[in-house]
Amino acid sequence: MPSLSPELLAILACPVPACHGPLELRGARLVCARCGLRYPVEERWPVLIPDEAEPPQEPEQRPT
Ligand SMILES: [Zn+2]
Repeated sequence: MPSLSPELLAILACPVPACHGPLELRGARLVCARCGLRYPVEERWPVLIPDEAEPPQEPEQRPT
């Protein structure tokens, strides 16, 4: 079970240039709160590569 420190999570952002949304940890994935891309976390280190990310699978956009 990956566990990222809150300090690390706080400085991480989506690597997509047009996005840069905040990331939140969900299970073994880091999910962008803005574009919904899901980045894998391997060996406690997030793989923040858009090409490696999974597209959003469930519509979770909550209107603000
Ligand atoms: Zn994003």
